[in-house]
Amino acid sequence: MAKKLYIKTYGCQMNVYDSERIAEVLAPIGFVLSDTSDDADMVILNTCHIREKAAEKVYSELGRLRKQKATKEKAGGRMILGVTGCVAQAEGAEVLKRAPYVDLVFGPQTYHRLPEMVARAVRQHGQVLDTDFPEDNKFDSLPSTRTVEGATAFLTVQEGCDKFCTYCVVPYTRGAEYSRPVGQVLKEAQALVRAGAVEITVLGQNVNAYHGTGTDGEEWGLAQLIREIAAIKGLDRIRYITSYPAEMTDELIEAHADIAKLMPYLHLPIQSGADSVLKAMNRQHTVAHYKTIVQKLRKAVPDIALSSDFIVGFPGETDADFEETLKLVEEIQFIQTYSFKYSARPGTPAALLDSQDEYHVPEAVKATRLARLQAALNGNTLAFNLGAVGQTYPVLLERLGKTPGYLVGRSPYMQTVVVAAPEHFLHTIQNVLMTQAGPNSLQGELVNSAQRATA
Ligand code: SF4
Repeated sequence: MAKKLYIKTYGCQMNVYDSERIAEVLAPIGFVLSDTSDDADMVILNTCHIREKAAEKVYSELGRLRKQKATKEKAGGRMILGVTGCVAQAEGAEVLKRAPYVDLVFGPQTYHRLPEMVARAVRQHGQVLDTDFPEDNKFDSLPSTRTVEGATAFLTVQEGCDKFCTYCVVPYTRGAEYSRPVGQVLKEAQALVRAGAVEITVLGQNVNAYHGTGTDGEEWGLAQLIREIAAIKGLDRIRYITSYPAEMTDELIEAHADIAKLMPYLHLPIQSGADSVLKAMNRQHTVAHYKTIVQKLRKAVPDIALSSDFIVGFPGETDADFEETLKLVEEIQFIQTYSFKYSARPGTPAALLDSQDEYHVPEAVKATRLARLQAALNGNTLAFNLGAVGQTYPVLLERLGKTPGYLVGRSPYMQTVVVAAPEHFLHTIQNVLMTQAGPNSLQGELVNSAQRATA
């Protein structure tokens, strides 16, 4: 009989991808995904370490699950409880100590060994900790078939990071940069398209630092990889995330100009508009360098939409530094952004800096700066959405709307679009005339129901 598996995913798209692959690894030993932890035979928390108090949230969720596990055991059943992701990688032994009822703690590099870990936990009724960076590569051992729910899919091509931004734990939790070989990536992309993917988002912690071995034995960059993926018949759209500004090559910018399937949208995190702050963050770009990249991108693709990440109140950030950030936002006109107050990650160089009074930015100052920044950024987003009214965009209709008779999709620029459309249009690309815009979404009307945009 099928066993129920519930996976709760926190954080970025790379965790979403890992959760999908974990489900695929467990399917051959009888686990079937469930959308609730109630009565589940296995629950896995796929955690993220980026936000403050991430670990505390995991422990609080584990506390809740402990009761469900006890109830199941009282009824004669068993719930296997697992923790993976960056919290597991960063403090695996601590998780087992603080939550001794957890059965499995494993890192993002070892989940291909899950069937074996599950067998060990079940046989021995003991805890299993596997947070190595193993010699054997997990991608070689993952199932070759893929399941796709809907029309969009993630495809991890690169993992790890060697950049060591001073505020970030990723280089410690995900290890050194690694790029999957081109042949392996292409096989997976083809499997995703066969399983129904119309759009693929290529993922990597530093995706544009991709340097996998090509089908010709040479080292390939991301641009070349995307060209090959774009040749797959049946695939209409490609996106990639997350890019590191200093790795933005001319070749990749050119790819934006001449690959129609590559969407005119790029997430390019700058983090601050002040060079002194970028330096303290150990980012390898300056503001001028970033602006040059934007100019080149806009020359290659005039309508390209840019989004970014910002951290305010980084240790040592002055009022003048912050004003530079506001100036940059005004100048570039990002259409979407993710902005946060700086919060220290234990063990990082920035946390050391933050512990010194002369560098620490008080919470109230951070809050005021964040509010000002978000007001400016939200203004840009709204202006961009309003500018779309009257335009017709190809929209990939991804899911059912809340109101019956409506579908929700994405424009090429990642805008959410709500449109009255028959259900059989779900997972297809339709031309939509934008009629109304708000800060978070657009509304539109179907124009030409038979046409696909980029096929
Ligand atoms: S580039 Fe910087 S922020 Fe991004 S994962 Fe690497 S260290 Fe972290």
